[in-house]
Amino acid sequence: MRGFLMWFMPAKMKQAAEAESRQWIGVCNHCGSENSIWDIGGIRYGAAGRPTKLVRCPKCRKPGAHTFEKRG
Ligand SMILES: [Zn+2]
Repeated sequence: MRGFLMWFMPAKMKQAAEAESRQWIGVCNHCGSENSIWDIGGIRYGAAGRPTKLVRCPKCRKPGAHTFEKRG
C-alpha cells in the first residue's frame, strides 16, 4: 500500500510524508519498544488523532495493538 501511494508522490512530498510518519510513535505492549508508523511499513501524513493499529512489532516480532501518537 505504501509503495502504491509513494509512486504518485513528488520527491518533496515523499520526504515530508516520511518525516511525518516517523513522528507517529506507538509503544509495543509486549517489549515496550517504541516504533514509528514508518518503521512498521505504514505511512501517515496530514492526519490527527490517536489511531490504534494491529501491527507486528519489528523488535520482538509479536503482533499486538499499538496506539500511535504524534511526537516532536
Ligand atoms: Zn515488541
